[in-house]
Amino acid sequence: MKKLFVLMLLLVGCGDGALSVDYTEVENVDPLFEDRPVLALHEVRIPSVDGEIVEATAIESHDGIFLEGDILIEPEHLVETQEGDLQTRTNELAALHTNLWPNRVVPYVIASSARHRRADIEAAINVWNNKTNLRIRKKRASDTHFVRFEKVASGCSANIGRQAKVTKVYIANNCDRGAIRHEIGHAIGLWHTQSRTDRSKYVKINWDNIKSGNAYNFKTYKGQGFGPYSRNVGSYQYGSLMHYSSYAFSRNGKPTIVKRGKTGSARLIKPSRKLTDGDAARVNKLYPK
Ligand SMILES: [Zn+2]
Repeated sequence: MKKLFVLMLLLVGCGDGALSVDYTEVENVDPLFEDRPVLALHEVRIPSVDGEIVEATAIESHDGIFLEGDILIEPEHLVETQEGDLQTRTNELAALHTNLWPNRVVPYVIASSARHRRADIEAAINVWNNKTNLRIRKKRASDTHFVRFEKVASGCSANIGRQAKVTKVYIANNCDRGAIRHEIGHAIGLWHTQSRTDRSKYVKINWDNIKSGNAYNFKTYKGQGFGPYSRNVGSYQYGSLMHYSSYAFSRNGKPTIVKRGKTGSARLIKPSRKLTDGDAARVNKLYPK
């Protein structure tokens, strides 16, 4: 992986082989999907429960490998196949899929790079602590697993659920409190709402408006082979903190994902980035008292 990464950097240095993402023409740009430089696209092979190999597409950027815009995959969870593809190391996204935090306790640290965002980070944490059964609290010396908030140059992103040691939440300068709340949602184990396997009952995808090469971001978790890990917990809510906005990955300023059965502005999904009662209920089902 390291070799691959260096190779990609060289390609960029030569001005060749690099794809660029330009979201500047998109209305309502969401910091969750903003201009993260794309160094490479990877087909990630994910064995599913029924033995089928499913391919998802991930982007490689300066600060990691990402699925669905802001879901950060740790390189140690991937292996390079002889054909040069990436494959998840273990079956059925075991390493990538949600690892819940034991005893509902989520220790965290704020890296020195992100200390200037302490007030925003703590405000976002307080929302989760006040509305759910979780206890997100400062790391103690005895905590072996924890969330670390770090500053990055662009984009807001996070791992899904508890990782081997450090679960990262990356925060660029334009990631506001709502975006930080969203990323904490990933860190505690939530995937994106619009990727639920039952989403087609609620939303319609306008494939023609999706930026070239980005259709993979709109697959359902069934389509991505996540099977029983899709976590279709609770009711489907358009206002969910974990839902894409209607303009996510738009190539032309037109909506990419809209409410089914609605027209005009009523069809648009504009996540408030607030933690809804539905989100809280979802989390409390994952973390019962
Ligand atoms: Zn997200």
